[in-house]
This record gives sequence, C-alpha cells and structure tokens, in this order.
Amino acid sequence: MKIIYTIFELQKSLQIPRQSGKTIGFVPTMGALHEGHISLVTRCAEENDICVVSIFVNPTQFNNKNDLLTYPRTLDIDLGILKKSKCDFVFVPEVNEMYPEPDMRKFDFENLDIVMEGAHRPGHFNGVAQIVSKLFEAVKPDQAYFGEKDFQQLAIIRNMVKQLNLNIKIIGCPIVREPNGLAMSSRNARLSEEERKKASLISQTLFKAKELKKEKKVEELKEWMITAINNESMLKVEYVDIVDGNSLQSISTWDETDFPMACVAVFCGEVRLIDNISL
Ligand code: AMP
Repeated sequence: MKIIYTIFELQKSLQIPRQSGKTIGFVPTMGALHEGHISLVTRCAEENDICVVSIFVNPTQFNNKNDLLTYPRTLDIDLGILKKSKCDFVFVPEVNEMYPEPDMRKFDFENLDIVMEGAHRPGHFNGVAQIVSKLFEAVKPDQAYFGEKDFQQLAIIRNMVKQLNLNIKIIGCPIVREPNGLAMSSRNARLSEEERKKASLISQTLFKAKELKKEKKVEELKEWMITAINNESMLKVEYVDIVDGNSLQSISTWDETDFPMACVAVFCGEVRLIDNISL
C-alpha cells in the first residue's frame, strides 16, 4: 500500500494503471476507521482493479467548530488497518492541499438538503459536495463507495454526480453494526462504556419500528419512536423523520411511497449519532 500526500503524486501514481485500462475504485473517509469503513474498502477492492482510500477530515462540512476540534484523529492506527486491507493507495492530504483557496461554490440539491441532517447542520452538505467533488477530480474513479449509514449524504452525492455530469458510478453499501445493533461510527469512540450500551436503544427502536409499521399511522410511529428513545435518560432525540427514500421529503401516509425510510439523529451525552432503516 502506498501512502500519498499530494494530488500531483496521486495522479502520477494512477496514470499508468488507468492508461492500461485498469478500473479505479474509491472510498472517501474522514479516518478513525472501523469495520463500517473496511466493508466499503473490501467491496471496492473486490469490484475494481485498484482501490484508493482517502482520509481527510474536511473542515468545510463541520457547521459546529467543537465537533471539528473533537473529531477523532487516529492516522497511524488507520494506516495500520488499511495496510492489512486490500487498499492499494491511501490519499492523506493536508487542508491546504485540498483548499489552496477558499471554495466558494454553492450547490443546489433540489430540496434533498432542506430536511433532516441538512436542516439541523446548515452548510454541512455543501461542504460534503465541495470535498467529494474535489476528491473525485483528483482520483477520477470509475466507481465510488458510500455507506447507507449516511443515507442523506448518499442521495446528495448521487445528485451532485448527476449535476456535474460525472462519469462515476456511486455504490451504496449496507450499514455495519456493533453486536448490540449500534451503527458503527467514528464518533462512537467518544462514548463511554455505559453510553455505548444505552445507545443501542437507537437501533433497537428502528428495528421495532419496522415491525410496528403495519399497525401504526406514520405520525403515531414517529411519536412512538421519539418516546421510546427519550425514555432513556442518556439519550435525547434531535429528530425522527419518516421520509420517501428517493425525494427524502417527509410523508404523512404510508401510501405516499413504496420506499419509506425512518431516519434519526440522537444525542448520547455530547455525542451526536445518526441511524436509519428501510421500513
Ligand atoms: P466517514 O469517515 O464517517 O465520513 O465515513 C466514510 C464512509 O464510510 C461514508 O460513506 C460512510 O457512510 C461510511 N460509513 C460510516 N459508518 C458506516 C457503517 N457503520 N456502515 C457502513 N458504512 C459506514
């Protein structure tokens, strides 16, 4: 595995494989790697000749300064994990490499960004699109892999690829969970042992909601989920939404969509966790 720090070096390294017709797969990450990330890397390596992973904590997608400051950074451990995976190139740029000057671009995501994460984290998805488009430009992958854990992000990236007319296939990969059901996340590293246990109630509530769908109306199910999670004193719901999985807009009756998704953001102490399930 080769570690690369600049766009120039990256493009030089990928030139020969690309010219000889090799396919390039790409997995963008912010590091603090866990099995969720590695599931993407494994799939990327299986489906492409060359697997490129990036590790970059992108400042423009953090609407909360403290979240950026406390975001876990474990580069040496990450590189050790990637060395044991099927990753061929890991791209680890500095902030100046990706933003030699401020990125002033403003994207229009056709209402995909006005709900859920977008509504609660102003500017977040614009920052995500800025960095992912720059990384796509640097790597020029054939296929790129994203987790369904960040369900709204996946929709935003697909929309961005369409808008920018990029010839990149976006592949969504299933959520990898801890044995207790908690969706794996870099932010889980900031949970205490007890918080980690209690946070499993988030996914348990989502699993139960899928069963209860048959007997409850949309609004009733939402209320039930909010109460179930907030009943645990360590957890505080920021939002629970039931949306159409394509438009991401809230639904009020089940017959509005054949792709209903329940999406949640919950604070566990100071740590903000998200999760979702197809109902
Ligand atoms: P991050 O480092 O949090 O920006 O995540 C990098 C990629 O890994 C994103 O596409 C995430 O959706 C994906 N990812 C994060 N956690 C998981 C998980 N538990 N299961 C599957 N994919 C994940």
